[in-house]
Amino acid sequence: MRDDADVTVDGEHEAHAPPPPRPRRPNALLARLYDAPPYRDPLAWWTLAMTCLSITALGTSEQPSPLPRWLDVLLGSLVWTLLFAVFPAMVRLKVRRVRWRRAQRRRAAAPRVDGAARSTDGGSATTATTAPTTAQGPTTGAPTRQATRAATRSPSPPRQGSHDRPSESPPTPISEDAVASSPILAAARELPFPVARTVRALQAAPTAKEQYESLLEVADALSISAGAVAAAWLRSVDPAIEGLTSLRRAYDRGVTQGSWHDVLRAAAQRAVDTPDAVPGLSKVHRSARGRGSLLGNLQALVEERNRWAHGSAPRTNPEAAERLAGLLPRLEAALDQAMFLKESPWVVTRSSSYRSRERVFDVFVWWAMGDHPEFEKGRITSAAPLEDGRLYMLVCRERCVDLTPFVVQRHCEVCRSIELFHADRLPRGNATGVVLKSFGSGHAMTDDSLGDDLLGLGEQESV
Ligand SMILES: [Zn+2]
Repeated sequence: MRDDADVTVDGEHEAHAPPPPRPRRPNALLARLYDAPPYRDPLAWWTLAMTCLSITALGTSEQPSPLPRWLDVLLGSLVWTLLFAVFPAMVRLKVRRVRWRRAQRRRAAAPRVDGAARSTDGGSATTATTAPTTAQGPTTGAPTRQATRAATRSPSPPRQGSHDRPSESPPTPISEDAVASSPILAAARELPFPVARTVRALQAAPTAKEQYESLLEVADALSISAGAVAAAWLRSVDPAIEGLTSLRRAYDRGVTQGSWHDVLRAAAQRAVDTPDAVPGLSKVHRSARGRGSLLGNLQALVEERNRWAHGSAPRTNPEAAERLAGLLPRLEAALDQAMFLKESPWVVTRSSSYRSRERVFDVFVWWAMGDHPEFEKGRITSAAPLEDGRLYMLVCRERCVDLTPFVVQRHCEVCRSIELFHADRLPRGNATGVVLKSFGSGHAMTDDSLGDDLLGLGEQESV
C-alpha cells in the first residue's frame, strides 16, 4: 500500500500559502527582461551578438594579460554583455513599468465610460473587449486539435484586435491585484484538484501576461473536469445515451473543449428529470443574474483560447491586462457557477474493508479536492465495492460514480510521481491504447487498460 507521499503531483513547486507577490526565479527574471518569445525581441538578438562579438574580439586579442587566456575571455565577455546588453534591457524594463503604471493611473483617474470592467464579482457586464457570445451551438469552440497546432506554428497574423473592439475607448486594464484578491478565485481553490491547482497558479502569476495564460489554463481544466463529471454521471444512469456516443467519436480525433461542453449539455438535459443527479448539473446551461450560463462563459473563454492558439496572444503586459479585464469576470462567473462540483467531491480509493453487520464497505480514500498536491486522507462508506487506486466522484455524499476512464490517476514516467490524467485520444489503428494527458504537466502517456472502457461508451453494456 502506498503512503501519502505517493500522491504528490509533480509540476507543483509553490508552498501551500497565499500567492507570493513577485517570485524571483531567474527564468522569470529573464522572461521579463526580454519579450517572449525572445527571438522576436531585437534586444535579445543584440545580447547574443554582444556575447559572440566580445568572445571573438577578446579571443583573438594580442594584448598581454596577467590572467590565463580563457579566464580573460570569460570575464571580459561577461562584463561586455552585462554592460552593453543586459543593462540596457534592465533600463528598458524599468521604463516600461513606469509607463505602464502611469497609464494605469491615468485610466483609473479618467471617468468610467463603459464601466464595469474592473468588477471582480462578475456581477456586471463585461466590456466590449470580448464581445462574447453565449450561443450554445454544438460546434462552437470545437476546432480540431490538429488545426490548433498547425495554426500555432504558422506565422502570426496581424496584430490582434483593432477590428473587434471600439477604437475610441480602449478597455480599462485590470488592476494589479484583481486576480490575487478575488474572493471567487479564492473559493475556487476548493474545487477538484485539476481546477484548483490552475486557479492557484493563476493567483500566483506575477505578470499580466502570465495571468492571461494561466486564466486560459483554468478554463481548460474547468471544461475537462466538469465534462468528465458529466460523462461519468451520464454513463452511470444512461449508458446508451447519444451524448456518450458523440464523445466516443470525439475520442478518435482527440477530445476538445467543445466535446466536453457537448457532454455537459447532454448531461444537463438528462439531469433535469433525474432526482438523484449530480446537484447543480442541470443548471449549467441556464443563465443566472445576467452573467450568462456556465456553458456560455466556458465557450467565450474557449474563443479567447482559440485566438491565443492562432497567434493572437497579447504581446505586452498592458495588452494582457486589457484583455484580462474582459476575461476575468467571465472566468469568475464560470467558477462561481461551477461551485456545484464541490458538492460531489472526488476521491482516490486507497483500500477498503467490508463490515458484514452493516453490509457496507469502509473505504479509505484521498480527497482529490483543493489546490494542494498532497491529498488529504479520509474515510467514506460505500454500499458497493470499489476498486483500489481508482478515482470516484461522491454524488450526494453517498453514491460513488466511477470517473474512469475520463480521469485517472497514474504514475507519470517523466515526472516519476503520481499525477491525475484525463483521457485525450484513442488513436485509430490501435485497439486498446488510450493517450492520457496530465492535468498538471501536460505530459502524455499511453495506457492499454482503458481502451475497452472508451470503446464501449454509448453502449448499453458498458457499465
Ligand atoms: Zn508528468
